[in-house]
Amino acid sequence: MNLPNLIPKKSQLSESRTGSKGSFGHFLEKGKIDLSHGEMLYIEDLEVSFDGFKAIRGLNLDIRVGELRCIIGPNGAGKTTMMDVITGKTGPRNADVKGRVFLGQTIDLLKLNEPQIAQIGIGRKFQKPTVFENLKVWENFELARKTDKSWYLSLNASLDESAKDLIAQTIQKVGLEEQAFEDAGLLSHGQKQRLEIGMLLMQQPELLLLDEPAAGMTDEETMQLADLLNSLRGTCSIIVVEHDMEFVAALSGNDGIVTVLAEGSVLSEGTMQQIKNDPKVIESYLGR
Ligand code: ADP
Ligand code: MG
Repeated sequence: MNLPNLIPKKSQLSESRTGSKGSFGHFLEKGKIDLSHGEMLYIEDLEVSFDGFKAIRGLNLDIRVGELRCIIGPNGAGKTTMMDVITGKTGPRNADVKGRVFLGQTIDLLKLNEPQIAQIGIGRKFQKPTVFENLKVWENFELARKTDKSWYLSLNASLDESAKDLIAQTIQKVGLEEQAFEDAGLLSHGQKQRLEIGMLLMQQPELLLLDEPAAGMTDEETMQLADLLNSLRGTCSIIVVEHDMEFVAALSGNDGIVTVLAEGSVLSEGTMQQIKNDPKVIESYLGR
């Protein structure tokens, strides 16, 4: 794919996207996550309360390097709050938080803020796609590109070949080759969701969090998304919160682990088959 030698003008870039302001010290760089025990994320006895209301109560979770984990559970189970804690949106600064949340062996996520956590390699997708509608699809990828401290210097340069390669590969990965030169605003909902996942992939995250990514999608879009996430399996760890059971089945296969959250803690955990046959799950969730 040939990408033009253009990059977006400075005025099109928001400050938060440039990300070159922070200096978080050496130990926070992504490659520095200690994954020596094969563990990406470790949550132990997590409790989160807002004004005395316990949204998370005694949550334990263990995500392995390269694992694709699906999390299901009724509304209000604490799924989004859990993601808020992992990404630093909710933390000891703005809620009552107890327990342990570790990335790899050594990084205590409860001690870091949101930009720091993004910096070390945790990417998050919210339910609603947030793409730059007025820019071309490929320009969205260019904006999302992980850049080093010399980001501002690169503004006036043309895209180097490796950057172009990464953009082209990512566009292919998310299946948007035919739309690469269209305005992002013209994409369908499913395509926008894949664009946003592609933008997260441009940062080459170690851990990707997706909160109800299939919401509002047609069946066909949902299965395209499942194919995309399956194709990413092993390249990073992925946590997917989702209600659509067919989608979850497509992601977990016969032996992927599915976690069921209810009332702020793990109600059940096991393969899809084990979950479906667990009387506690049938009573509290599936049987409704
Ligand atoms: P889920 O994503 O599983 O549907 P949430 O994590 O959004 O659940 O919410 C879990 C519970 O925590 C809900 O009862 C919700 O109302 C409450 N909650 C979440 N965030 C806040 C907050 N910032 N302040 C007060 N209550 C909250
Ligand atoms: Mg939620």
